[in-house]
Amino acid sequence: MRIAIIGGGICGLTAARRLSEAGHVCDVYERWPGLGGQAATIDVGGGARLERYYHHLFTSDRHIAELYEQLGMPDQLEWRDSRVAFLARGRQWPFTGPIDLLRFGPLPLRSRLRMGVVVLLLQRLANDPRRFERITARKWIQRRMGRAAWNSVWGPLLRGKFGERADEIAMVWLWSKLRLRRSIRGDEARKEKLGYPRGSWETLLQALARSIQDAGGRVLIDRPAARVSLDGDGFAVTPGAAGSFRLGHDPGDFEPDAEPEHYDRVLATVPNDVFRQLLDPALVSGIGDEYLSKLESIEYFTALCLLLELDRPLSNFYWTNVAEPDLPFVGVIEHTNFVEPERYGGRHFVYVANYLPAGHELLSLDAEELLRRYEPGLRRINLAFSAAWVRGMWLHREPAGQPIVTVGYRQRIPQLQTPVAGLMLANTTQVYPEDRGTNYAVRLGEQAAELMLTGQAPPTKPASARKWRLRLRVRRRKEPRRRWLKLRPPARPA
Ligand SMILES: Cc1cc2nc3c(=O)[nH]c(=O)nc-3n(C[C@H](O)[C@H](O)[C@H](O)COP(=O)(O)OP(=O)(O)OC[C@H]3O[C@@H](n4cnc5c(N)ncnc54)[C@H](O)[C@@H]3O)c2cc1C
Repeated sequence: MRIAIIGGGICGLTAARRLSEAGHVCDVYERWPGLGGQAATIDVGGGARLERYYHHLFTSDRHIAELYEQLGMPDQLEWRDSRVAFLARGRQWPFTGPIDLLRFGPLPLRSRLRMGVVVLLLQRLANDPRRFERITARKWIQRRMGRAAWNSVWGPLLRGKFGERADEIAMVWLWSKLRLRRSIRGDEARKEKLGYPRGSWETLLQALARSIQDAGGRVLIDRPAARVSLDGDGFAVTPGAAGSFRLGHDPGDFEPDAEPEHYDRVLATVPNDVFRQLLDPALVSGIGDEYLSKLESIEYFTALCLLLELDRPLSNFYWTNVAEPDLPFVGVIEHTNFVEPERYGGRHFVYVANYLPAGHELLSLDAEELLRRYEPGLRRINLAFSAAWVRGMWLHREPAGQPIVTVGYRQRIPQLQTPVAGLMLANTTQVYPEDRGTNYAVRLGEQAAELMLTGQAPPTKPASARKWRLRLRVRRRKEPRRRWLKLRPPARPA
């Protein structure tokens, strides 16, 4: 079959690789002049690349770890200690492990203990996500852990992901995050390990592209799809002109650049609104109102990310959650407190993170103006901070940065297979109940490819994780408790 994959992010590339392996010819259309979508990298000088948006992996991210193994480069993934803090009451409070929770001054001691116990119970005993789908995290947390825990810890954490919509987020989203952490034990419970690929995400993106091209497919960057239409018993994809990314995201604004190309199948990995805008009227009516209304019912927040190159460190932490409601940003991620600055010629890189609704005034500012707005807030992290420390700046906005997971979200998720046979959609809105991430983009790409090939989506657990769990179970039976608590998944570093 000839298959068009629209979107050269992790999901599209993973699906194209799998379909190419199965003997099909895939063309990947990508709007941006580089691969990776939300995980795309930029050249920050000195031969180094860095993600436009801060990125790391968790040790529970087994699907992407397995992809690195399949591509013959498991050593690319490095696991490092992370240092997390809360900015509250004018200072950074360490917040990496249980001891930090006990010392967390902004929360009364009784609340700290109560919160610790409830998190433990939730991780150990609450197995059914459906219990948490009909209630907001705010309501659940206030009821079980108290108002102080919401105001000082969970509210700011959710604001760091969902901005001003934090109060409406369904508890199932938080449940899933906490459950993923329940396998963390021993040393890691005290100091969480996070993953980062040596040389950035770019090595993975290039390896995926090579595997598609080696199988006879094409990976076309700065070559968006401008239109998808029905064409006989298949589809026609009209490519847009180079440079279309400068016109925004609506493919309706892109100048068609060549004759439409015929495909037997199409997999779109673009956001819901872009997918809708790609379809010609016949496809729109083929898809039908029910599916279209699902696409429209999910709201995104824009990720606004200012990357600063500094001539010195800003703080001692990798990740700082901002719990000061008057600050105009929600997180500070100091990449070079995670990956050593020596990798970047001694330079320091800091992301200032925000999630905002479309139309928010901060989204219209350029990098200099935004830095001016952020400067007083950055001084709360380091009193001495000044714009004179800044050696370089990059500003990126991702309109589909974060789907807003409110109560009843499951019912609104569009299916991978649209009502039109041969036309599929796979994007971050379908990652549920987990948070969107590159690991789940890999899982989704694999699922979409499998569904296209066999008519059935595969189970969500990767093979090595299954084998690992099986091994763990066998060893649990054979060995005393103290030994198996120290076991680690296979792809972890020594
Ligand atoms: C601020 C931020 C921080 C993040 N941090 C992490 C992290 O720490 N760890 C982690 O694992 N994940 C993180 N993520 C999430 C992760 O990057 C995404 O979940 C993942 O990359 C999504 O992959 P995707 O392929 O599904 O979608 P996308 O990456 O959105 O890919 C869709 C692609 O479609 C392209 N496209 C759009 N329109 C067209 C068109 N008309 N024609 C052709 N192509 C088109 C886009 O340019 C894009 O490349 C973060 C995301 C953001 C925004």
